[in-house]
Amino acid sequence: MPISSVYPSVPLVDTVDFWSLVQIKISKYMDRVCMIDGATEAKVTYKEFHSQVLRMRNNLWQRGMRKGDVFMNLTPNSNQAPVVMFACLSLGGIYTASNPVFTPGEIRTQLLDSNTRFFATTQLLLPVATEALKGIDLKLLIVYDSVGRAAVSFEDMLDPATPEAPKVTIHPREDIALMLFTSGTTGKPKGALISHYNLVSNNLQASSELSYFHGDDSVSSTVFFVPLFHIFGIFLFPHAITHGKTVVFMAKFHVEDYLSLLCKYQTPVAAVAPPIATLLAKSPIIDRYDLSFLRHLFVGAAPVLPSIEQAVKKRLPHLELRQTMGMTEMGLALVIPKGRNVQGSAGLMLPKTECKVKNSPDMHVLNICVCFKVVDPNSGGELTANQEGEVCFRGPQTMVGYMNNPEATEKAIDKDGWLATGDIGYYNRDGYIFITDRLKEVIKCKGFQVIPSMLESLLMEHDAVADAAVIGIPDDYSGEIPKAFVVLKENKTATSKEIQGFVAGKVAPYKHLKGGVQFIDMIPKSVTGKVLRRVLKEKNGSVSGAN
Ligand code: AMP
Repeated sequence: MPISSVYPSVPLVDTVDFWSLVQIKISKYMDRVCMIDGATEAKVTYKEFHSQVLRMRNNLWQRGMRKGDVFMNLTPNSNQAPVVMFACLSLGGIYTASNPVFTPGEIRTQLLDSNTRFFATTQLLLPVATEALKGIDLKLLIVYDSVGRAAVSFEDMLDPATPEAPKVTIHPREDIALMLFTSGTTGKPKGALISHYNLVSNNLQASSELSYFHGDDSVSSTVFFVPLFHIFGIFLFPHAITHGKTVVFMAKFHVEDYLSLLCKYQTPVAAVAPPIATLLAKSPIIDRYDLSFLRHLFVGAAPVLPSIEQAVKKRLPHLELRQTMGMTEMGLALVIPKGRNVQGSAGLMLPKTECKVKNSPDMHVLNICVCFKVVDPNSGGELTANQEGEVCFRGPQTMVGYMNNPEATEKAIDKDGWLATGDIGYYNRDGYIFITDRLKEVIKCKGFQVIPSMLESLLMEHDAVADAAVIGIPDDYSGEIPKAFVVLKENKTATSKEIQGFVAGKVAPYKHLKGGVQFIDMIPKSVTGKVLRRVLKEKNGSVSGAN
């Protein structure tokens, strides 16, 4: 049976675009500081931020950007990235962003898939970007910190003399604001299309007890390491500024820098991915800092182990660790409310969100073949409280669909608007949702997605590899790390180190085979040729040759 959020409905609007909403909401904070670069301490007030977005908008228009054009940002968190994002959205442009640790090949795939024509990066990332952009016909390349006349800089794009761009009509329900790449529940990366209405709704839904700031818009700061190229950061930044917060950006994570910034700005609220919760639970460095001002630690992007939750609670008893759950395809869905944690739960649903748990056919394969979960495979359809199945959500924050991929869209969102998350879990009688496992073939390493089939294709390019399969194995710090099972060709040899090095040369560091390479005689597959990853998980470490 579907259940609805236990929170009262909130009024939503489908007549404003996202920048217009943010503009209205931030208008009362104009004299406050909006953003601080954690490393350089460069500050931008709300008034300056607003003015920068408008000037950037004018300059983008002047340089040819029009509704529907795609803009890609390739930078770590910075005071510049949000300016570019909102300027792009205000023109009806589609914003996409790439992970700055990606290799040129990975960035290029995203550039081609998204049909990017406008691109911004930093001087440091320019060599990687140049390689990725080879042969791509750009209309504009911005290098934020470019000096002299070498390239168009951020400053150039704020030229106040540029004539005002015209008003662009945006239809919030239909017009796409973001294209974010994700594995979805199956296969290759896909561009999830998120409309203005999705973003407006999610901002309005994150209210009351489920707001990261509890509706409090007093002056305070939040240290922001959550990446602005992932839905977590793209949701959180507007959420923070529409509550008048000062966002202190960290471009690169270093535990001592992070703790120093928390102390310097006395931030009561922090949002992090699970590895930082693990550090708070385990690192001896933490004892050197007085973190008594930190009250709420929101943890999302991947599950938090109950042992970590307990250890954080023991070590920092004044701190509430509150899980959240979001997804590229639907932004924020779940938050643990203030003072009402239920250990192991990913949270209660935001207002206007519904959940159902279904007994999907893929579950049957999983259940019958390998893991024998307590679900009746013959019942079909929907399950009730405390029964495990595939978790589905429905709400105004659900994406429009995947770009140029009606088949995948249809698989993800049914005709009634239910989004299948690819996660296994259940809800209890109080409406708390528990995510217990993953049906989809995604490894979550430090909160980032690693797609096994992509690594498997890469492994197949190695001269000595006859077949390969990749799984995620548990890791204290990263949550999961990728491990490969490899079948070598007859008469060919390769060491684990060689195979690891081969992969490392081609993908971002969090996708490296840090879980090792194990050589086996045959990859276990179902009759339809699907890799039986559960069997491999059981095999993990049990066969000689493990690394
Ligand atoms: P992404 O699209 O990268 O945000 O990944 C979304 C996926 O991350 C979800 O479908 C879950 O598999 C996982 N995830 C995010 N938050 C949680 C959480 N609190 N508990 C368990 N899994 C989570």
